[in-house]
Amino acid sequence: MTETISVDLAVLGGGPGGYTAAFRAADLGLTVCLVDREERLGGVCLNVGCIPSKTLLHAAAVIEEAQEIKDFGVSFGAPQIDLAALRDKKERVITQLTGGLDGLCKTRKITRLQGTGRFSEGGTLLVEQQGKTTTVRFAHAVIATGSHPFHLPFAPDDPRIWDSTAALALELVPERLLIIGGGIIGLEMAQVYHALGAEITIVEMLDQLIPPADKDLVQPLFLKLKKRYRIFTETTVTGMEAADEGIRVSYTTGDGTNQQELFAAVLVAVGRRPNSRDLGLEKIGVDIDKKGFITVNQRQQTSVATIYAIGDVVGEPMLAHKATHQAKVAAEAISGRPAAFTPLTIPSVAYTNPEIAWMGCTEKQAKEQGIDYEKGKFSWGASGRALSAGAAIGASKALFDRTSGRIIGAGICGANAGELIHEAVLALEMGADAEDISKTVHAHPTLAETFAFAAEMVDGSITDAM
Ligand code: FAD
Repeated sequence: MTETISVDLAVLGGGPGGYTAAFRAADLGLTVCLVDREERLGGVCLNVGCIPSKTLLHAAAVIEEAQEIKDFGVSFGAPQIDLAALRDKKERVITQLTGGLDGLCKTRKITRLQGTGRFSEGGTLLVEQQGKTTTVRFAHAVIATGSHPFHLPFAPDDPRIWDSTAALALELVPERLLIIGGGIIGLEMAQVYHALGAEITIVEMLDQLIPPADKDLVQPLFLKLKKRYRIFTETTVTGMEAADEGIRVSYTTGDGTNQQELFAAVLVAVGRRPNSRDLGLEKIGVDIDKKGFITVNQRQQTSVATIYAIGDVVGEPMLAHKATHQAKVAAEAISGRPAAFTPLTIPSVAYTNPEIAWMGCTEKQAKEQGIDYEKGKFSWGASGRALSAGAAIGASKALFDRTSGRIIGAGICGANAGELIHEAVLALEMGADAEDISKTVHAHPTLAETFAFAAEMVDGSITDAM
């Protein structure tokens, strides 16, 4: 069975990039078709990424807080965990958000096609589902097919070896869980499973957790986690074997020692790869780079002028807010508006406890690039709000270009760092200097004050790290 439809814009992929591009283009008056192989829109972010992970992390954070409040003389008993109810809560959050997307498609008269899409010559997209092919003729297309988890080539096919999607399914809480990869996804899942009762071991190949962030900002988190998990940095997993009693894992530590250990489950969280294969791109002349990312210009246009690409499939950082921002640029460019993807910064957040957030240039990048900078760093141990909230583990750091005086980067370790970082993002976009930030009146006592104090240390009002 075949059917043909014609639209101004065909969007392949219904994640945050794809649905945002579709919505914006429809709002600008284009006829739009949105294609995704899954029944539910929302992509990785809503279904098996940002949203389910944050739902589970909320439960984990409450469990941890209930334990940490002991310091205030308040004690609770051990948590009673109903795994099925927790899974159900996660599903309800996902359903509410993805259901909302269907409604938003309908009100905008966007044609929603479920099926696997592949480009064909002459401005067409073939969408296949269960033997039925729909030919979508388009004037323009946006590719927003996202990414998938990287699988270690030596890992056997075994249900006890998980990727992030399997970990989020929350089928069981293993007694001993190994997490390969000390990045954001690995650490967030560690927090969830530890709170639910698993013994956690983390193996990270590099010399620190969350490698892109500055080590001094990650250190307070590392010291806290070290008391709860076994953490091996500069350690490489070299083999895995499925045995009846568990997964036997071989790894080599920094000093060259080879070890073997048995784990009930293993989560592989070592990065993601773009979904650019099997899309027919080579047939229509859309270029990809060596890693498989689709190459685009500032308007998100590929090597084929009528085809645009956005989100994870065009490269790092693989973040939902980058995908949505690029989506708006692509939709506006296609609609003939002047648009370009030129953010000065895209913030990154690890929703750990404490959270780590950073934006702009990190200190290690500033050093590598030989940038002459001034630094203000305020320890949360001197913040009245942090101390009174039992959240004194943390620091706020701001970097300023010594010549122009303008902020070039910032990082925060501490409770709500993911919310607090946005003051720094706005400061960078607006070209603020240390005086602008330090002389902006901040409410007291707040965690937000710590960022102003960091700036004040450069502005000259505070001379010592408190
Ligand atoms: P995706 O969300 O991957 O969507 C791509 C869509 O394309 C999918 O629905 C897929 O089914 C569809 N598709 C692919 N190929 C085809 C085809 N041939 N035919 C039809 N459909 C196709 N980011 C954050 O910013 N904050 C977070 O807190 C965060 N947490 C995360 C936690 C986890 C566990 C993971 C895995 C990721 C997390 N991310 C987070 C990253 C975020 O999910 C991605 O950056 C974001 O989803 C990328 O959006 P996208 O639109 O590019 O692609």
